[in-house]
Amino acid sequence: MVTEAAVDTVIGLEIHVQLGTASKMFCGCAVAFAAPPNTLICPVCLGLPGALPVVNRRALALGLRTAVALGCRIAPESRFHRKNYYYPDLPKNYQISQYQYMDHPPLGVDGWLEFTVEGTPRAVRIRRVHLEEDTGKLLHVERGGAVTHSRIDYNRSGVPLMEIVTQPDLRSPAEAREFLIALRALLQYLEVSPVRMEEGMLRVDANLSLRRADGTLGTRTEVKNMNSLRAVERALAFEAARQAEVLGGGGRVVQETRHWDERRQVTFPSRTKEEAQDYRYFPEPDLVPMAVGEAEVARVRETLPELPAQKRARYVSLGLSAYDADLIVRQPRLAAFFEEALAAYPQARVLANWVTGDVAGILNAEGKEIDDVALRPAVLVGLLRLIDVGVISGRIAKDLLPELTLQGGDPAALVAARGLEQISDAADLKQLVELILAANPEPVAEFRRGKEKALVFLVGQVMKETRGRANPELVNRLLRERLRG
Ligand SMILES: [Zn+2]
Repeated sequence: MVTEAAVDTVIGLEIHVQLGTASKMFCGCAVAFAAPPNTLICPVCLGLPGALPVVNRRALALGLRTAVALGCRIAPESRFHRKNYYYPDLPKNYQISQYQYMDHPPLGVDGWLEFTVEGTPRAVRIRRVHLEEDTGKLLHVERGGAVTHSRIDYNRSGVPLMEIVTQPDLRSPAEAREFLIALRALLQYLEVSPVRMEEGMLRVDANLSLRRADGTLGTRTEVKNMNSLRAVERALAFEAARQAEVLGGGGRVVQETRHWDERRQVTFPSRTKEEAQDYRYFPEPDLVPMAVGEAEVARVRETLPELPAQKRARYVSLGLSAYDADLIVRQPRLAAFFEEALAAYPQARVLANWVTGDVAGILNAEGKEIDDVALRPAVLVGLLRLIDVGVISGRIAKDLLPELTLQGGDPAALVAARGLEQISDAADLKQLVELILAANPEPVAEFRRGKEKALVFLVGQVMKETRGRANPELVNRLLRERLRG
């Protein structure tokens, strides 16, 4: 996407996160996914005349926790505002949100989030964190490819949202994806949202422009409707290529909002009202300002869990590579598994090799996460101990792992039942070593001519004959002794 006209991609994100509350932002209605339409509603979230909103304290606490964890400055007093516009999914004709005036800051401003891209540390500045409410949901009914009518479900109307806006610090679609993975992990560690993306709990809008060779920034477009991390990366890659083509052809990029079409894998201009809308923000008169004192901020800071950057650093200090540490930290459930196993088996590097290697490989192949399978930390630790005490070889452990991961079971019982114990008695292996040497004169000759690699082959043959049960170190020693003699 780098052309003569454009040298750099500049991306900023606006992320809407559904907060993990039991009830809505300004009323007591329950929050639930896929409930029968229009069953979780009341006069407040329907915007009926005379209904008065009350701030959900837990939503405020979760927003504050996030803003503090992102290193934001917390506004001593922040307000809600009315963002006025008409749309069928917004029965009040305004959304209660937080606008950024000089004297009315949102909940938090000027933070940052550290993350890594292929092991390299990066940081993105956070412009602001604020609270707002979600809108209802329109369901367009189609017949023969054309929308015949639309239905509205107000269950989502008034669900607590937190909006996180970044500075335009991201430089590629892949980087944007990595940032979102890191943000999602942070939100999970903070327990402010379950972040189930398939339920729309994390929605992303992006601004993208290209910087020209002379340093000037091109016109930006906004891309909406990206519902997965993959969609974000693909939509932004498409949009960057599209802008580069426009500029390369001597054209002008039009400032507009574009939607991502998942089916066709393209962005297209959305038919919205004129851009640069005037939402006529004004302070919400039905809600008092929210005061957050310094003592409160300090208390929140003290209750934060170990944050991803700290966790990464600790894992590296235990001997993990930066890459492995990040691979575990970016998946909070895998990190919890690793921590529990580590408490029982304090060889961090050995454990990390298994978790990021064989275990992750099985999970990837099955398209599952660690919580979806039968493998428990104690089972993996049990398996590793069997290797350590010489009962089984690493080879046998690797063979048993898929079954233990997907079906569970007791490693020691499985090894005993199948007769997989390691053969560690030299007397039991000597005869086999003789047979292998006799059957492979060529590698034997090669080894005697100084080719070390030939020994690896011979060890492999013995391991194969014993179906992985022979102690490889012992086989190695026996072969050497015999070939030297
Ligand atoms: Zn309600």
